[in-house]
Amino acid sequence: MSNPMETLTELRIQRVMKALQANNMEAYYVKTAAEVKDFVANMIPEGAVVSNGGSVTLGQTGVLDLLAGGKYQFLDRRTVTGAELDKMFHDALSADWYLASSNAVTEEGELYNVDGNANRVAALTFGPKNVLLVVGCNKIVTDLAAAEERVRTIAAPVNAIRLDCQTPCAVTGQCADCRSPKRVCCTTVIHSFQRRKGRIKVLLVGEPLGY
Ligand code: SF4
Repeated sequence: MSNPMETLTELRIQRVMKALQANNMEAYYVKTAAEVKDFVANMIPEGAVVSNGGSVTLGQTGVLDLLAGGKYQFLDRRTVTGAELDKMFHDALSADWYLASSNAVTEEGELYNVDGNANRVAALTFGPKNVLLVVGCNKIVTDLAAAEERVRTIAAPVNAIRLDCQTPCAVTGQCADCRSPKRVCCTTVIHSFQRRKGRIKVLLVGEPLGY
């Protein structure tokens, strides 16, 4: 007998996929996190220059290990700091592929992302020839208002805690519209209808991933 919750999730994902396609983005679906790594390996050609935005999802699904495994020219941000890291953020803008997740994806087919440093939203927006976002079903929301709420109440505080940013939300669990030196939500970008058809590809996963 089918699982009703799984069925509901899949129906919602189908709606999101249609909305993303209507906005000129490619949309894909795998049921489990365990399928993500092979999907990515099949999609990105060997030898491609690949970069990524900070993402718990890419770590959880084994994608970072795949990228670092020698098949690709991987700009591995984990291996550098300071000025070298800053240079890598700029080099990422001319990569063949850029991988990340999204803070939220709406049922209207929009991507909603908020950055502290803005290197990720910059690369999502312009530069890399291909962008692939791996998105767990926990990040699907009805509309942009729900996306904003999701970031304010979940994504930003959890990431501030994870990255030890010592922001008010990392201490109290609630946003205080701070001006902290390590504020994690300085730049908000919404991707809606895209002129460059198929540049942004979204892989939706039928399990929760990341924050
Ligand atoms: S504005 Fe500051 S307190 Fe609010 S979510 Fe962002 S980092 Fe946290």
